[in-house]
Amino acid sequence: MTHPLEHTLAAALTKRRELHRYRVRRTLESATGATARVDGKNFLLFCSNDYLGLANHPVLISAMQKAAEDVGVGSGASHLVCGHSRYHHQLEDRLAEMTGRDRALLFSTGYMANFGVIAALVGRGDAVFEDRLNHASLLDGGLLSGARFQRFAHNDVADLERRLQKTESGRKLVVVDHVFSMDGDQAPMAELVATSRDNKAWLMADDAHGFGVLGENGAGCADIFSQDDLPILMATLGKAIGGFGAFVAGSEMLIESLIQFARPYIYTTAMPPAVAAANLAALDLLESESWRRDKLQSLIQRFRQGAEQLGLPLMASDTAIQPLQVGPDDQALTMSWALEEKGILVSAIRPPTVPEGTSRLRITLSAAHSEAQVDQLLDALEDIARHSGMTA
Ligand code: PMP
Repeated sequence: MTHPLEHTLAAALTKRRELHRYRVRRTLESATGATARVDGKNFLLFCSNDYLGLANHPVLISAMQKAAEDVGVGSGASHLVCGHSRYHHQLEDRLAEMTGRDRALLFSTGYMANFGVIAALVGRGDAVFEDRLNHASLLDGGLLSGARFQRFAHNDVADLERRLQKTESGRKLVVVDHVFSMDGDQAPMAELVATSRDNKAWLMADDAHGFGVLGENGAGCADIFSQDDLPILMATLGKAIGGFGAFVAGSEMLIESLIQFARPYIYTTAMPPAVAAANLAALDLLESESWRRDKLQSLIQRFRQGAEQLGLPLMASDTAIQPLQVGPDDQALTMSWALEEKGILVSAIRPPTVPEGTSRLRITLSAAHSEAQVDQLLDALEDIARHSGMTA
């Protein structure tokens, strides 16, 4: 007999399918880079967050192998029990130095870092203010912190300011993505710094998509905003850095508070030390090979110019995230399938990840791509857009 649970779940799954929002996984059969073998076929990949093409770099692979031979695979415990290895420690020191902060603290994932930081810093009687388009982990952290949770209009500092001024008691925490993950645009950081300071609020930025890519030295918004301006900085290591994990950087007091109070830090096994070693090797490459950032910028320009000429629905982004906002869910899906037919993988991003009516193809560029590959993508898009009547 079928358990009643099955009927309830089946109804929800059917509804999701009918809405064209059913999500499926694919199985990778190769390393990822500009290309990958997926489910038995070779594809050009324009959907990875490996913005610098480091995930598959021999220097990272060898650093990971050496560290695994040195200290094994699993860390065996949480950082506070006995899982904190010298590789973790070195990586934290290096991240603190690179971001110009007193200290950095590793988290096993970015999701956990965001969740952990917000819940450790605010609670009942406090207020948290988040950009409407913040990453799910920031929104979840705000919602579950117990603080009064408010979302302000996207990149609208005046709306934020009004809300801050109406809040009189408790701690105030302003939280934004530096680069918005589904749109690619950037938060108005200088204005946010000023407004947060004027209203005695703490400012936190998630630089998952800027760290490694943006800024003079590739440290993202930390290259511009000091610890005084931006006291709570979070970034991930699984995107431009090519590895895995995340960190929070800030003052001595902030980091000690997180060690004591951030539950996703305290109650999770530390990332494998060999992963920390690979992340460290990536930071070396970031420093010695700035051409990767330059190449990425030139590919971004090339893509945008080409897409503009074709009249494709570009969004206001000058980062490696270059979505094409298609609108209806089914059209975004159809276009993603058509690209797949042509040997190119790009994900269709649909609600609830993005607002209703704004489904999009989330194209991401990487220094691993060649100009010819970007042109191949543009040719494919031209063909598909012509057939779907999408071009202007
Ligand atoms: N913040 C942002 C802006 C992200 O895009 C992501 C990853 N999609 C995360 C946090 C979560 O990071 P992780 O994948 O390391 O959990």
